[in-house]
Amino acid sequence: MDAFEYTTNPSRVIFGAGSITKLPFELKRLNLSKPLLLSTPQQKDQITTSLLPILETASLPPAGLYANTTMHTPTSITADALAYLHSRAADSIVSFGGGSTIGLGKALTIRTGLPHLCVPTTYAGSEMTPILGETAEGRKTTRSDPKILPGVVVYDVEFTFGLPVGMSATSGVNAVAHAVEALYAQSANPITSLLALEGIKALAASLPTIVATPNDLAARSLAQYGAYLCATCLGSVGMSLHHKLCHVLGGTFNLPHAETHTIVLPHALAYNVPKLDKGVLEKLAGALPGSEGDAVRGLEVLLGKLGVQRGLREFGMQEGNVDRAVEVAMEKPYWNPRAVEREGLREVIRRCWAGEPAR
Ligand code: NAD
Repeated sequence: MDAFEYTTNPSRVIFGAGSITKLPFELKRLNLSKPLLLSTPQQKDQITTSLLPILETASLPPAGLYANTTMHTPTSITADALAYLHSRAADSIVSFGGGSTIGLGKALTIRTGLPHLCVPTTYAGSEMTPILGETAEGRKTTRSDPKILPGVVVYDVEFTFGLPVGMSATSGVNAVAHAVEALYAQSANPITSLLALEGIKALAASLPTIVATPNDLAARSLAQYGAYLCATCLGSVGMSLHHKLCHVLGGTFNLPHAETHTIVLPHALAYNVPKLDKGVLEKLAGALPGSEGDAVRGLEVLLGKLGVQRGLREFGMQEGNVDRAVEVAMEKPYWNPRAVEREGLREVIRRCWAGEPAR
């Protein structure tokens, strides 16, 4: 066995259908009684119909509901939410939603030190990471701090049924991307590799079923399990070219998060393949049905089954911005298994823009 280093992130996970009913116990266990609830405007109703009655029955009426969360955690929204939090004397934060809502919860937690409990409703995975991305004056910056990691995560599959099919597919591939890059991370280790392969298998098996039958409980549950494992990888090891490109493309051209991850993933993997360990590639291919031993093909097959959009141009990116994307991506590159060369990178981004297959 080769030597390795692995830091586990301390968070408590409660997984299972109906597990939302355990949230009051979690708050009481931590001596908390006035949680501030966070959501987007779109998910406000889910909170009022599902979460509020549970808290009120447990004599834990929330300090308030802040339902103005938006994408990319703008610091202006954080300031607004922070003022509301103080005005309501909240003693904790409960974020209910996807990465955007959890991002606001993290932004509040790092400013106040209040405990943060999450109820994730997408597969993006922010709940398992100590990373916070924030936007100020049009620039998105990222920081990592153990204090940003949410303390309790309640994965209740019931709240994922509302996620539209298209978003379920792309959000699931977003999770797969965390695990794919964890397999070849500089800090990869046998533990995160196990989690990564199990997570990819779970998502590759469940996402096509969700696209065909969105209310399939077993598939929804398996997808959420896979997303949790992939998120653990994201929170544990460093990411490479794929995540760098998605960060640049999303941040610079305001492209949608999960859809961008879905488009870029096979291309980023194909770029890295020449420098990847054959054993790792075989294991990855083994986790992807229809791969015939070729991991990139396996991803292409998965995306084909999901019927997702493949070109960044479909989301409004102009061809003239391909060169701009190359410039920004070359500015502060992440560590990557293959050296990032301008011409190769340009071809990766051009193919992503055009919606061409990775090979
Ligand atoms: P999102 O949170 O922006 O949600 C997208 C939309 O889907 C929102 O309108 C939301 O209300 C709606 N939605 C979410 N779950 C739903 C459900 N179950 N039913 C109906 N509607 C639902 O999308 P996301 O992809 O989860 O998160 C993207 C953001 O998270 C990005 O800003 C990204 O940078 C961040 N992120 C951060 C990390 C990290 O570790 N810091 C990890 C992953 C993502």
